[in-house]
Amino acid sequence: MCGIVGISAETNVAAEIYDSLLMLQHRGQDAAGMAVCDQDDKVQSRKSMGYVRDVFQQRHMEKLTGNYGIGHVRYPTAGGAGKEFAQPMYVNSPYGISLVHNGNLTNSKKLGNELFHAEMRHLKTDSDSEVLLNIFAHEFGKQREIYPTAEHIFKAVNKTHIRCDGAYAVLALITGHGILAFRDNNGIRPLSIGVREGKTRKEYIIASEDSLFLSIGFTKLRDIEPGEAIFINKQGKLFSQQCSENPQKRPCIFEYVYFSRPDSKIDEISVYKARMRMGSSLAKQIKEINPDHDIDVVIPIPDSSTTAANQLAVDLNIPYREGFVKNRYIGRTFIMPYQEERKKSVRRKLNILDLEFKDKNVLLVDDSIVRGTTSKKIIEMAREAGAKKVYFASAAPAIKYQNLYGIDMPATSELIASNRSNDEVAKEIDADWLIYQTLEDLIETVRFGNPEIKEFETSIFTGDYITPLVENYLEELEISRKDELKMQREKSKSNRG
Ligand code: AMP
Repeated sequence: MCGIVGISAETNVAAEIYDSLLMLQHRGQDAAGMAVCDQDDKVQSRKSMGYVRDVFQQRHMEKLTGNYGIGHVRYPTAGGAGKEFAQPMYVNSPYGISLVHNGNLTNSKKLGNELFHAEMRHLKTDSDSEVLLNIFAHEFGKQREIYPTAEHIFKAVNKTHIRCDGAYAVLALITGHGILAFRDNNGIRPLSIGVREGKTRKEYIIASEDSLFLSIGFTKLRDIEPGEAIFINKQGKLFSQQCSENPQKRPCIFEYVYFSRPDSKIDEISVYKARMRMGSSLAKQIKEINPDHDIDVVIPIPDSSTTAANQLAVDLNIPYREGFVKNRYIGRTFIMPYQEERKKSVRRKLNILDLEFKDKNVLLVDDSIVRGTTSKKIIEMAREAGAKKVYFASAAPAIKYQNLYGIDMPATSELIASNRSNDEVAKEIDADWLIYQTLEDLIETVRFGNPEIKEFETSIFTGDYITPLVENYLEELEISRKDELKMQREKSKSNRG
């Protein structure tokens, strides 16, 4: 998963892009970058591995001058981790295009071959974002327009939609011309636009999440539609057009469960309210299945489950207590490369408050269970702290399939629920009772915020992928995501020095 932002203003935008990236940091901590362009058509850029605050020092910020630009925080999904994958990615023809991407293409290997063998473009990495950039650049350059208009740009986006399968929310800086944004046919990854009045023109921001708009003085205009493209030229004039032949709104439901900030609204649905409704529907399920339950206390596993857990406790009329204290300065356990490190790091990340567990029947709540490392360890900790019974509720249904659309999920074989029934998962994590949200309930709780959305992207729960898949894609991804293979890749990298 990644976070992207673009700003077009009257004066320098680098400081505001930096602030925006800080507010998108939860979407990726592997690498960060930005490119800005000034009115003399000079582009400045900086990208590197690490957190936003480490990548951009004062000396870099001073050089990043320009009144329109784009930024990116990266969380490794396709390709791998390493500085060659940091974005923006750049091609010098046509015009000089810098591009940032959130999502994942499912046919990038096939497109990479076409680019090399038929379109004379060589790719430096196996990043799907580099493929996307080159496809767009190729389609744009083919029109051979010295002075391209919005119409030329939208035509290239249309061709890009036709060729690319998968998920992509994209921002591109076209040197000397302006900023372009587009979202895939299904609108799988989020993207929205905000506006504010400048002295002589309107200023715009486009970003993965709208929660950052207000904090830097913008108000939200709207979500960008699936298949739609928006171009803001260097003078600040906005153009928009539907560039897809068959757009359908099918946003990724996991954004609401886990990824997005609670203060964001995606496709008009408040993430916070959706999480509250997830808590309510879990409470309803508990009351239906076991009206005489003996739960004494509801305890969230911080942070992404707190909203749902709180509402669940309210609906059950049971105390909500903080049983874990999180160390905010430790990296995310999920992206630690190996299972052993992940296990140790859950313990370091969450400290337990024994008094909330001693002699109580506790209901622990998490947003989701993926490998089961966190839940298993936490249940063990709860028992050591003296809990009588440990129940576990997950705001998401059982995750059984790998994600193809930009969320870093392990290989299917490493997902705890991939080939286990709910009871078997409960046994494996040692829960006295495991309550999973049902998929129907999850969809209802999210859809309630915008009933016009007919469908969501829910493949990690169902295995039904909504975009075409090239042959063997799933099998190849399964192999490349295995811990074992990741370990071999790391080893060969360190051997190369
Ligand atoms: P696990 O220990 O593998 O079961 O992971 C479950 C925890 O990881 C939950 O507490 C989630 O909050 C978190 N999580 C879920 N999906 C992801 C993801 N794609 N990247 C990072 N963390 C995640």
